[in-house]
Amino acid sequence: MAKQKIAVIGIGKISQDQHLPVIDASKDFELAATVSTRGLTHNGVPVFKTPGELYAAMPEIKLVSICTPPGIRHTYVREALAAGKDVMMEKPPTTTISELDDLIVHAKQAGRVLYQTWHSQYNACVDRAKAILAADGVKSARIDWRESVRKWHPGQDWVWEPGGFGVCDPGINAFSIFTKVMPFPVFVESAKLTFPSNRQTPVDVEMVFKSAEAHKPVLSGGFNWLEESGEIWTIRFETLKGDVLKLEGGGRTLRINEEVVLQHGDLEYSAMYDHFAGLLKKHESDVDAAPLRLMSDVFLMGARENGPAFEW
Ligand code: NAP
Repeated sequence: MAKQKIAVIGIGKISQDQHLPVIDASKDFELAATVSTRGLTHNGVPVFKTPGELYAAMPEIKLVSICTPPGIRHTYVREALAAGKDVMMEKPPTTTISELDDLIVHAKQAGRVLYQTWHSQYNACVDRAKAILAADGVKSARIDWRESVRKWHPGQDWVWEPGGFGVCDPGINAFSIFTKVMPFPVFVESAKLTFPSNRQTPVDVEMVFKSAEAHKPVLSGGFNWLEESGEIWTIRFETLKGDVLKLEGGGRTLRINEEVVLQHGDLEYSAMYDHFAGLLKKHESDVDAAPLRLMSDVFLMGARENGPAFEW
């Protein structure tokens, strides 16, 4: 089958690191245009300053992948749906739950496919952990998500602005795994958010979760954005059977009782584009609001502390 033409909107870090190379290698998609306020193209395809200019000039492009920061996403997705496009969008989907709900309604009304990606969910280790936890239950869980903002968001001031999520931008990746694998609903019991004194979003978050389970599982998590020793993207579970499961490397390694039982490389974005191709074939949307909902609750329940000022 001929490849489907797709445009990428927002040619920043994640587009360049993942979306563009994955589309280049895709059997399903062909990059046909970019939208870039800075005028960045890829492989010489036409580039437009705004999505509106793209839609007017190249109506034959029916698919867009929106890779901007989340603050502009609601406007861009609405505009794309109104122009009759099927849409794939980066995480976090929007800055608020109300905006995400609105996009779900509008995609349905427009009869278009809306695909909300959560890249960390696309790991075989995550699926294996989910199956084990469904069978063996959860006695405790601990999320540790620590990385360097300077490495992963170099110079990106939007992450420190309201709606930029701060350390919850990577932290929501942990939640996308956590909400997928947990065999029962979890709620935020308490949270402590530490904000640099000169910024509007947190650099460190510590959380306690609760559930309605009679056996009272012990559930907690921590995010930190000043970790310079390398990434710690781990979720540790103790099952009711007494085994210890560790998802490491953002979901690319699964250990059971310290022994590696499954490990793979970075296939997340190619799996996401394969999934988008499948959704388009079935003409189905896929939006999972659970990670954003839980993160919103962290902000609603969070106690604020001031920390040292942050400078790049
Ligand atoms: P980024 O490099 O700061 O921004 C992405 C691009 O979006 C910018 O380069 C710009 O592209 C466009 N853009 C920014 N603000 C805009 C605005 N107000 N209006 C229109 N376009 C705007 O950010 P990123 O790291 O790629 O992150 C983008 C999204 O991907 C975020 O939601 C993030 O959570 C997610 N993500 C990031 C990473 C990562 O490692 N950084 C990993 C996974 C997912 P042009 O200059 O081309 O217009």
